[in-house]
Amino acid sequence: MKAADKSRLIKNIIPPLRERYGQVPKPPELPMLEHLIFAILSEDATEAKAEAVFQKFKEGYFDWNEVRVSSITELREVMKDLPDVDNRCARLKGTLKRIFESLYSFDIDGWRKLSHKELTRRLAKFPANSQYVVARLIRDGLKGSTIPIDNDTLRVLQRLGVAKESDKPEKIAFGLSRIVGKNRNCEFTYLVAELAADVCLPNEPKCENCPIAKLCSTGVNRLQPPEEQPKTTRRRKRKATAKDGAAKKKKKKKGEK
Ligand code: SF4
Repeated sequence: MKAADKSRLIKNIIPPLRERYGQVPKPPELPMLEHLIFAILSEDATEAKAEAVFQKFKEGYFDWNEVRVSSITELREVMKDLPDVDNRCARLKGTLKRIFESLYSFDIDGWRKLSHKELTRRLAKFPANSQYVVARLIRDGLKGSTIPIDNDTLRVLQRLGVAKESDKPEKIAFGLSRIVGKNRNCEFTYLVAELAADVCLPNEPKCENCPIAKLCSTGVNRLQPPEEQPKTTRRRKRKATAKDGAAKKKKKKKGEK
């Protein structure tokens, strides 16, 4: 897709998404450590789910050191509503451990003075490292304009035709930050995460309930009558339905045992 078409598309999807999912909550001012923790909790999750887990930690634990020394089983219970919980527990615990073992404290507010490049370099050694976490910390802690791209955002952008499967998150974020701009960055991330959790689901998107179906190339193809769909879409759809059926059968079998 040409840059001008991408720009037009991104600008056009914001109003219907805003109408469906509402205004983005105002990002709170937090210490750097908490911005980092929130970034780990919110990757591939909605703001509301991440916020609920964040508040459980704030209210149920004396401090972040208590979280660091808690067992994975206990952390898993607190974070059970977030996807990929085991991996997320390990990333959170590993990050707290790494900070504590290198500083003997959790005060990383000095990182606010770092350049984006230096912060990216430091976080590269952390167990929680990902483009999403780094970009979100730069955006929320350093007031930068980088767009955080997680798997959910990537999936939506690929289906919209804005990103190719071979595009790296860093490249996508660079192009998008020019289109979205600093002022709309938080709103864009919030709206796309809501869309991904609501209808643009990983296995089978619910295009028939999507507020931007008419603007999305995948949605337009999928909602066409079967005889008008390109062969590749029909094949993909048949494959997805077969996969879905097999998964359901497997689940049923398991339940019978
Ligand atoms: S139309 Fe379908 S594929 Fe496109 S964004 Fe909506 S749910 Fe996703």
